[in-house]
Amino acid sequence: MLSPEEKRERAAKILDILAKDMDLEPSGESALIELKFTNPLELLVATILSAQCTDARVNITTETLFKKYKTAADYASAAPDGFEDDIKSINFFRNKAKNIQACATQLVKDFGGEVPGEMDALTSLAGVGRKTANVVLGNAFGVPALAVDTHVKRVAARLGLTAKSDPDKIEAELTAIIDKERWTATTNLLILHGRRRCKARKPLCDECRLTSLCDYFAQLSA
Ligand code: SF4
Repeated sequence: MLSPEEKRERAAKILDILAKDMDLEPSGESALIELKFTNPLELLVATILSAQCTDARVNITTETLFKKYKTAADYASAAPDGFEDDIKSINFFRNKAKNIQACATQLVKDFGGEVPGEMDALTSLAGVGRKTANVVLGNAFGVPALAVDTHVKRVAARLGLTAKSDPDKIEAELTAIIDKERWTATTNLLILHGRRRCKARKPLCDECRLTSLCDYFAQLSA
């Protein structure tokens, strides 16, 4: 079990290696999100759609969706059947359609149609938990934010950065050992690493440059 200081050092090394591995300058790390968007509303909608769905599928759907729905009022005033139809290629589209329309209605009613840039306000919206709020804050508002999804959870555990299972506790633990300006990059780098190499069932350890920093690999090799 690493001490907090050892975890801090390990996390910094991991992030440096991942950023280099993906051919990025540190300042470019936060530009790694794969969801396509041009403003906070688009990212909020895309992130809600992305739960249990691939970013590639979401991007195909939003390419046409964002041409049709440009404001929160557009989503709020759409006929429910028609809106469901517009996102029907996405997993759980009925629930997501309800959440997006409820969320848009709140944006119109309580926030002048704008997506708020604060955690408390974001998590007061339908279908928006801390993970979604952190994705939006970090990538659309430039507010340092560390979102814990299934990839972040798995990769951080394998690398020995956390032993917790609750996403809020993992977020608290990681934000305590990682410099604030790297929080958003941490999310994006760990997600990409989880998708490309540190896969859930069969991690591609032979292709990974983090083996010397990885508890999971050490156990495999013991
Ligand atoms: S060595 Fe394997 S388990 Fe560890 S981070 Fe790399 S891919 Fe994941």
